[in-house]
Amino acid sequence: MQDTRERLESILRQRIGVLDGSWGVLIQKRVRGEEEYRGDRFRDHPRDVAGNPDLLNLTRPDMVRDIHRSYFEAGADIATTNTFTATRIGQADYALEDVAAEMSLEGARLAREVADEFGGLVAGSVGPLNVSLSLSPRVDDPAYRSATFDQVAEAYAEQIRALREGGSDLLLIETVFDTLNAKAAIVAAQDAAPELPLWLSFTAVDKSGRNLSGQTVEAFWISVEHARPLVVGVNCSLGAAEMRPFVEDLAQIAPTWVACYPNAGLPNALGEHDELPEDTSRFLGEFARDGLVNIVGGCCGTTPEHVRQIVAAVDGVAPRVVPERRAATRFSGLEPLELRDDSRSAAGSGGRAPRRAPPRGPRAGRPPTPPGGGVHRAPAPPPPPGQETAALPAPPASP
Ligand SMILES: [Zn+2]
Repeated sequence: MQDTRERLESILRQRIGVLDGSWGVLIQKRVRGEEEYRGDRFRDHPRDVAGNPDLLNLTRPDMVRDIHRSYFEAGADIATTNTFTATRIGQADYALEDVAAEMSLEGARLAREVADEFGGLVAGSVGPLNVSLSLSPRVDDPAYRSATFDQVAEAYAEQIRALREGGSDLLLIETVFDTLNAKAAIVAAQDAAPELPLWLSFTAVDKSGRNLSGQTVEAFWISVEHARPLVVGVNCSLGAAEMRPFVEDLAQIAPTWVACYPNAGLPNALGEHDELPEDTSRFLGEFARDGLVNIVGGCCGTTPEHVRQIVAAVDGVAPRVVPERRAATRFSGLEPLELRDDSRSAAGSGGRAPRRAPPRGPRAGRPPTPPGGGVHRAPAPPPPPGQETAALPAPPASP
């Protein structure tokens, strides 16, 4: 069997690879009512499980296979498993902790089954959590954390073992708005599935281009490059047009394959992403022609039709040329810092002045999105009563 890394890299050396699109809108069309999420097996489960897409791996495997099939038919090279919230922590609100690993296992098996029909690859989706290691959920107690690093790493390790057993080719640690959570996932991956290549995907929480931990995409890269991911990229949060500056920054600094899978535009008044396939694909086609990307695809609101048009938009376009790793001493806080031999002064990475981000904070009239909620494929449920993580505080101010 050809090594996954070789298989993916042999594609990426020749052309731009394509990831699949979102699950949320497709699930909403196919699953009607809470009882369909339950199926027979969870008929008497004491909690409401509506809107728990990962449960469908157990109760509606036929539908999950269909969605994978529709994306491969649209021309995707890589499927993401339907396991974005399938961790013990993510499933606690549904009181389904004990089946979280099974959801991941089955999610990977279903994706594997369909990918093998098409000769495709499977990216095991490791999503963010509704707990943050970077920030306190208590405004009056900044040192407080609702989970420890080890608890988060263990929850991810359980998921990753299941994704590996189910046949994932690589691990997609995605929608990273909390860098420290992502680091816990990296530790878990290195421990539980060291042979699986990593794909790390950053998410900006607003137009300043920072994630919830307050980092720019360049600072994020410096924070995670020790993990030597096969792919690094940007996804979710904003539409392609808004995302472009962050993809440009990453494309310039990262000496590995770069991916971008945006939402179908900025959310409308109802929080839905309704950018048309021709628009999303046009933006990604531009990214491709400008040499910014090696893999493209879709996040929230995208459909098989988006993927079909994305495939057409990047067809025949030369992939981004991966730059050499620059020898330099790099540090990251919220901003990147690079010390080079040829310079006695410190500079933002690339020697450019760090981009001035606008002041951070919630956009007018919009609270910051709590982890796992509101964005991406399916919103996480609200925390149960008595838990004080109702919403995360506003991200820290820019230094
Ligand atoms: Zn998304």
